[in-house]
This record gives sequence, C-alpha cells and structure tokens, in this order.
Amino acid sequence: MTVSRREFLRASGRGAACVGLGAAGTALALGRGAVAGELVWQIDPGKCVACGNCETHCVLQPSAVKWGHTHAMCGRCAFCFGYYDLRAGSAAHAGVEYQLCPTHAIERSYLGGPYFEYVIDEGACIGCGLCVKGCTSSGNGSLFLQVRHPRRGQRGAADGTCVNCNECAIARSCPSGAFVRVPADDPYPFGRQRGGGA
Ligand code: SF4
Ligand code: SF4
Ligand code: SF4
Repeated sequence: MTVSRREFLRASGRGAACVGLGAAGTALALGRGAVAGELVWQIDPGKCVACGNCETHCVLQPSAVKWGHTHAMCGRCAFCFGYYDLRAGSAAHAGVEYQLCPTHAIERSYLGGPYFEYVIDEGACIGCGLCVKGCTSSGNGSLFLQVRHPRRGQRGAADGTCVNCNECAIARSCPSGAFVRVPADDPYPFGRQRGGGA
C-alpha cells in the first residue's frame, strides 16, 4: 500500500520525519554555524508543481535545487514513474532511452522480488523536476525538489549549493508560491535530508 505525501507528512510529523538521519544529516539539521534568526530559501513540496523553473532560473548553473526522496514513503515500484517515461509501458527493465532523467542522475538497485530502490547522483542533478512531476502525477509523490544548502563551515556556490540571494530568482518566477523562507539552522523543515531520504 502506498501513501500520499500529505498523508505521510501528517502521519510522521516533523520529528518522526527525521528518523533515519545519520550523523551528517543530524549535523545538517542542527545548522551550519548560521547566524541566529537568519532565514534561507526552501521549497514547500506541498505547493511545488514541478514547472521546470528551478532548473532554469537559479543564478547558479547547475541549479542549487536538486531532487530529494522520502525513502520511507516510496513504494519502491518496479515501474517507477519518476524513473521511467510512460512510453516504457509497464516494463520494469526498459532501456536507458526510456529514463526520464535527462542527465541519468537517478540510480536504482535491485532489492529482490518486484522491488527496486532509487537514489540520486546529486552532482548530476540539474533540478529539472521531471522525476518529481512523474512521481507526483502517477506515483505517490515521494520525490520532491529541495534547495541544497552548504554544509557546516562551507559557503554556497563553492560546492554548488545555495548562496541565499536576497531575492531568489526562482522564487520570483515560481508559479505556485512554493518558495518560502525557513530558519537557517533548520534548512530542511519539511522532513528532508540532503541527498535524498527523510
Ligand atoms: S529528472 Fe531532473 S530533478 Fe530528477 S534527478 Fe534528474 S535532473 Fe534531477
Ligand atoms: S537563492 Fe539564489 S542560489 Fe539559492 S536557489 Fe534561489 S537563485 Fe538559486
Ligand atoms: S519554480 Fe516553484 S513550482 Fe516550479 S519547480 Fe521550482 S518550486 Fe516547483
């Protein structure tokens, strides 16, 4: 049985959504030496419609926006709507030409039975949102987009992460008002972990 994103988030709550965070994730959740009261940009997955602007409107190229994946919510489908183009039909082993991701940033590994697990090569993700659109429109919405923020002691841009523009160019163009300001010491308040998973 699969659950929708809203059901998952409602049921798990913010604290429970952090279950599974490793040491790195915990360090991220505790902040990166951010100034008290500082705010940073983040995407509310409940509002994002995966329009594509996150790829093209960020001042950084590739964009500071990348995919995320709520592994606890994922159906681990053999036919993943975020991994495959619908043209692949119901094939669980369609060729690479049927993969949705234009940069082949999504890697999958076989779990046994009809199940696969999907993880991201974050360096290859350009934030186009095609996988998110596929998962939210035909799957259960466990894929989402998030602004990646610098790790502790690092600054944005150097590692391809957000430089926290005063006026985010994506926020100005976002058609659904999904860009919101969140506390810098908790930059993933929607229960997300950098690199995918929650
Ligand atoms: S389809 Fe787009 S958003 Fe999804 S992993 Fe590939 S590049 Fe990133
Ligand atoms: S604040 Fe700037 S760097 Fe960050 S996502 Fe928006 S445009 Fe990109
Ligand atoms: S611009 Fe807004 S709606 Fe479009 S992909 Fe980015 S967050 Fe989602």
